[in-house]
Amino acid sequence: MKSVTTKLLVIGGGPGGYVAAIRAGQLGIPTMLVEGERLGGTCLNIGCIPSKALIHAAEEYDKVCHYADGSPLGISVDKARIDLERTVQWKDGIVKRLTGGVGALLKKNGVQVLSGWARIVDGKTVEVQEAGAGEVTRISCEHLLLATGSQAVELPFMEFGGAVMSATEALSPATLPKRLVVVGAGYIGLELGIAYRKLGAEVAVVEAMDRILPAYDDELAKPVASSLKRLGVQTHLGCSVLGMNEAGDAVRVRDAAGNESELAADRVLVAVGRRPRTEGWGLESLLLDMNGRAVKINDQCQTSMRGVWAIGDITGEPMLAHRAMAQGEMVADIIGGKRRHFTPVAIPAVCFTDPEIVVVGLTPQEAKQAGIDCITANFPFAANGRAMTIEGTDGFVRVVARGDNHLIVGWQAVGRGVSELSTAFSHSIELGARLEDVAGTIHAHPTLGEAVQEAALRALGHALHI
Ligand code: FAD
Ligand code: NAD
Repeated sequence: MKSVTTKLLVIGGGPGGYVAAIRAGQLGIPTMLVEGERLGGTCLNIGCIPSKALIHAAEEYDKVCHYADGSPLGISVDKARIDLERTVQWKDGIVKRLTGGVGALLKKNGVQVLSGWARIVDGKTVEVQEAGAGEVTRISCEHLLLATGSQAVELPFMEFGGAVMSATEALSPATLPKRLVVVGAGYIGLELGIAYRKLGAEVAVVEAMDRILPAYDDELAKPVASSLKRLGVQTHLGCSVLGMNEAGDAVRVRDAAGNESELAADRVLVAVGRRPRTEGWGLESLLLDMNGRAVKINDQCQTSMRGVWAIGDITGEPMLAHRAMAQGEMVADIIGGKRRHFTPVAIPAVCFTDPEIVVVGLTPQEAKQAGIDCITANFPFAANGRAMTIEGTDGFVRVVARGDNHLIVGWQAVGRGVSELSTAFSHSIELGARLEDVAGTIHAHPTLGEAVQEAALRALGHALHI
């Protein structure tokens, strides 16, 4: 067995782990990173990036299909065709470029990357069975950073395999299923369900709650529900899945009234959440304080054991790549001697459905629950010139601000392309902007961003274009 020593050892090369390692390298901290599968983690390999690539390809194809039916824009095409193998290759090319870039950045910053699965010996010692060579390396470290991410929740009566897929398999289809049943109308179920529908599959979504996207309020989810209807995605709300039928060609479903039925399916995507990856690599032996299934951390990402840190999905919700990255950067800074705390005013969340949803900060309901007397105002994209020119008039921007001093505490938006507004939303909240600041800023015309200014103006009682 080979023995090595380092100051910082990072387990997991996803957005949390690799960002922490890059920043540590920049700060001159001797750093090693262990990754069992592929650098880039869930996000770059089987999550954020490939899903957004597939969603984009599906949108483009859907657009061309519509042009084949004639279009008010005067565009027509004879017949739309898609070569799914090439689509998947194109998506894989983007993943390869990005993950290769991560490897290059780690190298450039002097981080030593070990390819293999880490097993915890104690809070300062880890063993790694190196891929290929099979040699075991024992690493002693001063600081241990846990960044092992999360994995898809499996339904015990519908395990992954065969026709039943997780998002990972759904992101690399060899062929398009004729009929896809999606279990779970959350982020993954709807992002990928809509993409499959646009690629040409018949899609049915089964959701246990009585509405789609239960994490968002009704007003925000409504334009997505209308879009599902328009696209022909069937929704079965308030239903529980019971498993596959005996022939394996349909999903058995029970509705709220107890009636059972079957939904024909060539493939089934189960997207009922993700859980922190805390088992199978010796973590239990550290007896860390837990927060349910997640590792409990304080506002510096310290666990209950001195010198052991945790970031990203292993620490629970919100399981988002940008949160993992921000935590990783901060931990490296702290180890490098800086005084930092993870206390963002807001962490943006974007759902890449059609239309997209953005939530930053407090919703009106959350503000009310927090005892804040607030003003809220919506500005509809139907009154925004740019939205008309991109055929995206469905949706709105909503602002939530304190009634007393007009401090903005939340933004929400739903509409085509609104993911890009998340930057402006986050800036205004983190910088402590008031309604007057946004209302008094000149926003370029014609842009969707004008709806942001108009929402602030409307909250102040003097919107111009409505
Ligand atoms: P991960 O990215 O999961 O990385 C953990 C790494 O640790 C993995 O590479 C794993 O192989 C490695 N590892 C685990 N155990 C060990 C061990 N014992 N030894 C060595 N290595 C180990 N988030 C967004 O913000 N925006 C999105 O649009 C978005 N889309 C998504 C779409 C899908 C389909 C999915 C599944 C997720 C999506 N997410 C999105 C969530 C995002 O991918 C995660 O929040 C993010 O990847 C978490 O980063 P992480 O570093 O904590 O963990
Ligand atoms: P999710 O929590 O977003 O949605 C799961 C859905 O499944 C919920 O609506 C839930 O009510 C439903 N559900 C649970 N059990 C069920 C059952 N037995 N039958 C029917 N419905 C059931 O989870 P997800 O879509 O799997 O995504 C996992 C995580 O990945 C997200 O929470 C998010 O953190 C991350 N993610 C983020 C993005 C993004 O940022 N755009 C995209 C994809 C994934």
